Amino acid sequence: MSIAPLPRWIEPGLALLYPEVCQLCEQQRAAPAAGFVCSRCWSKVRFIKPPFCERCGLPYEGEITTAFQCTNCQNLELHFCSARSAVTAKGVTLEAIHRYKYQQALWFEAFLVDLFLRQALPALHAQKWDLIVPVPLHPTKYREREFNQAERLASHLAHALTLPLNTNLVRRVLPTRTQTLLTKKQRAENVQRAFAAQGRHRLKGERVILVDDVLTTGATTSACAGVLRAMGAGEVCVWTVARGV
Ligand SMILES: [Zn+2]
Ligand SMILES: [Zn+2]
Repeated sequence: MSIAPLPRWIEPGLALLYPEVCQLCEQQRAAPAAGFVCSRCWSKVRFIKPPFCERCGLPYEGEITTAFQCTNCQNLELHFCSARSAVTAKGVTLEAIHRYKYQQALWFEAFLVDLFLRQALPALHAQKWDLIVPVPLHPTKYREREFNQAERLASHLAHALTLPLNTNLVRRVLPTRTQTLLTKKQRAENVQRAFAAQGRHRLKGERVILVDDVLTTGATTSACAGVLRAMGAGEVCVWTVARGV
C-alpha cells in the first residue's frame, strides 16, 4: 500500500523552500527528515507512559499499579475497546499539530509520524489487527484543508504494519462545530450522529485500528467506532498521536 501524495503545493522540495532551522524554536538546526524539529525541542515531548486508564488511555499522575478506569470513561458509553495516544497534547507537540492542521505546516508530518509510530508500533504488534481506518473529515472541511491529517497518519501506520487502509468505510455526515468550547456532554451529543456507514459496506468481525490526530474526551472516536461496530467490526481500538489532558 502506498502513502497518498501531499497536496501539490507542498511537493517541490521542502528543503529548497525552507532553511534547515527548527520551525518551533527557530534557533537550532533541524533537518527535513526530522520534520524541522531540533533535538532540543524534541526532548520536550512528553510521551505517555503507564499508569493510564486502561480504557481511554488518560495518563494518571500518581502511584497506581493496578488496572483502573478513569471517571471520564465511567460517564461515557464508549464504543472502542481501548484508546491510546503517543504523547500529551502540550507544548511543542500541540504547537506542531495545530500548525500542521490549521496552517498547512505539512513539514511537521515527519515529526508527528515519528512520535506516533514509536509508541503505536510496539503496542499494536502485540495483537493481531486486520484493518486501519482514519476518522473521516466532513467533505466541506476536507475541501478547505486539502488533506485529512488522520488519513495521513493512518496511512503511515498502515505502511509500517503492512495492514490495509480503508478510507471509504465511514463518512462524516454532519460538519461538527469546533469542539474546544463545549462541555463533555455537549461534545458527545454533537458527534453522536456525525458519522455514518458509507453505502452498503459491511464488515465480518475484522479487528480495526481507528486513527485520529488528537483524542480529548473520546466522544468523536467513540461515535466513529460505534458506526464501525454496527457495520460488523469485531473490535475497534483507537490510536492518536496526542492526548488532550
Ligand atoms: Zn527547536
Ligand atoms: Zn478513561
